[in-house]
Amino acid sequence: MANCQACVLTCMDFRIQAAVADWLRQKGLTGNYDYLSLPGASRNFLSEGKIKLVELSYQLHQIKEVYLFHHEDCGAYDLGDMPVEEQLARQRQDMDAAARMIKERHPELEVHMAFLYLNGNVINLTAL
Ligand SMILES: [Zn+2]
Repeated sequence: MANCQACVLTCMDFRIQAAVADWLRQKGLTGNYDYLSLPGASRNFLSEGKIKLVELSYQLHQIKEVYLFHHEDCGAYDLGDMPVEEQLARQRQDMDAAARMIKERHPELEVHMAFLYLNGNVINLTAL
């Protein structure tokens, strides 16, 4: 069975895909990650019990890392005109909960969290 380095869980929003791919390329991960795209990323992951998707990536490809990507103006959060820092704070709660769930099952996995601004900037949040 083939192995890969990471599993990437990102929002499905078309506006962020190029920036996510660029960011992953800068990390040297191109061609070396499983890709999961769900509305709201961690929000959908938690509400729909999608831990199985990450589990599958772990079992099939022995991943070492998980990347959670959220973004400004996410339709799944519907935070409207709220300041972007407040949007991030709200989404961060779900990101932290998703990261904890993954770490509880697989403490050896590194879980990284990142937030994308629609201008293309990406900030790294503290990894678990
Ligand atoms: Zn979104």
